[in-house]
This record gives sequence, C-alpha cells and structure tokens, in this order.
Amino acid sequence: MLRVNEVFHSIQGESSFAGWPCVFVRLTGCNLRCTYCDTRYAYDEGEEMGIPDVLLKVKAFDCPLVEITGGEPLIQEEAPRLAEAFLGLGLIVLVETNGSRDISLIDSRCTRIVDLKCPSSGQMGANDYANLGRLKNHDELKFVISDREDYDFARHHVQQLRTGRFGAMIPVHFSPVFGRMDPGILTQWILDDRLQVRLNLQLHKLIWGPDRRGV
Ligand code: SF4
Repeated sequence: MLRVNEVFHSIQGESSFAGWPCVFVRLTGCNLRCTYCDTRYAYDEGEEMGIPDVLLKVKAFDCPLVEITGGEPLIQEEAPRLAEAFLGLGLIVLVETNGSRDISLIDSRCTRIVDLKCPSSGQMGANDYANLGRLKNHDELKFVISDREDYDFARHHVQQLRTGRFGAMIPVHFSPVFGRMDPGILTQWILDDRLQVRLNLQLHKLIWGPDRRGV
C-alpha cells in the first residue's frame, strides 16, 4: 500500500517539462525539514491506496505525463513499483526526489529529478552525492536557491558536473525560492558566470499564487 497525499491535474510548473499538462501524485511523508518547505501539509496527511487505485485515478485525467512527488517519494517502499506501473501504461514518468535516497531504486526509464539541497535548506547534510554519478542524460538536477551562498554551492557542483563525461548533457535548473530570492538577481549571476543552467520559475505559483494547494 501507498500513503497518498493528493492526486491532481495541473500544469507542470518546473523542470524541462514546464508548461505541459501533468498529473501529480503526491505521496505522504518526508525525511527532511527544509526551511522553505511549501508542502508541509504532505508530511502526515494522506490516505492508504493500492497501486491499482492510484492508476485508476491517474488514468481518469487522460494525460500522458505523470509526476510522482512528495514529500519524499522514496521513503515509501512501493514508490518504485508505482513508477513501473505508470511506465507499463505507456506514460512519461517524472519522479521528483530530494536527493537523500539512492535514485537507482527508480527505473531509469523515468526522468529522475534530483533536488540537491543547498546550505539555506538546513538539510544539506542529507545529500547523497553518489546520486550525481547515477544520473542519466534524461535525468535532471535542481538547486533551490535562497541566497548567494546557495548559488556558490550550486555553481561549484554544476562546474564539476559539466567537466564529467556525461554531465554536459544533463539539464540543470536553478530555482529561486519564492519570495526570498529575486529571480532577476539570480539571472544576472548565471549570466555573469556563463553558467549553462536553466532558470526555473515555479509556473504554478506565478499563475495561482504561492499558497494554493492542488495545483
Ligand atoms: S524535501 Fe521537499 S517536501 Fe521535504 S522538507 Fe524539503 S522541501 Fe519539503
């Protein structure tokens, strides 16, 4: 059984799939407590559902793109099997993870979006840096940035990744914390350093505001 916080149909707000309609399956629970967390309601709230029930709910939206998110999906043992079940339906499957668990648990046909925690999260000590070596070309790396210290941390890892054999191809997203990091300043830092990364604005917050749930 899975513990599911919510299943909803919205616009993908982040990643290389930003702007596409997407069904989100938010699993309950997280092993971290980031200072800027905007999904605290997912720490405990949720209902028990079997994988067939989740598939039924997702199929009802008739949407080819699905994302498993949280919380942290990988703290639930059945999350990898849910991803495989979605793949079996022929869906494009994204799995967003906080980077503290081994991503090789997730079928590599999924796009694994790994959030490497920066200093201001307060959770940097939880990063499993071995995940950087597990990324495939179609996976994605994300840094949530609050300030210059976060930016410098992220830049260091991007520069290291880009010098690796496969790292040049991996999409990297710099996401300013809504209301804390001015996107214009972050953009200028990226341009000044000639960094090959994508500015990742959270479209759903721009459309519906920062506090709306289920979007
Ligand atoms: S990993 Fe995500 S869900 Fe967990 S505390 Fe951090 S921001 Fe919140």
